[in-house]
Amino acid sequence: MAIHCPACASENNRFSSRYQSKRASFLSVNDLRECKECHLVFAHPMPLDGELEQYYSTQYPDIFLSTFSNDVVRFPVQLAQSRIGLLGRYMPMGDGEKILDVGAGNAVFGKVLKGMVPDATYDAVEPD
Ligand SMILES: [Zn+2]
Repeated sequence: MAIHCPACASENNRFSSRYQSKRASFLSVNDLRECKECHLVFAHPMPLDGELEQYYSTQYPDIFLSTFSNDVVRFPVQLAQSRIGLLGRYMPMGDGEKILDVGAGNAVFGKVLKGMVPDATYDAVEPD
C-alpha cells in the first residue's frame, strides 16, 4: 500500500528514521519518512486521533488557545507581529489577502494576523 505525503500527496518518499517517543506519546507511530518532492518529514503511520487529543489537551494550557494577551503567549505573539511586519515589506497585507500558514502549530500567527488584518483569509496546515 502506497504511503502518501500528507502535504503534497506524493507517493515518492523514503524511510528517514525510526520514531522513538521521548514522553510515551504517539506510540502508534513507527517511522519518520521524508517526502522526496516537498521534503516534509512526517510520521508513519500518523498518530491516532486519541493520541493527538491527549497531546494537545496536556501540552498547552487552555489560555494559550483562547487569548493572546497573557504573559504566557507574549513571546509567540510578538514573534508573529514581527513576522507579519517583515512579510508586509514584501507583499501586500491589506484586506482580502489569502495567507497559508504551513506548520501553524497552535495558530498564534493566525490569531495575530486576524487581529491586525481582520478581512484576510487565513488557512493553516499542521501536518503533525
Ligand atoms: Zn510532499
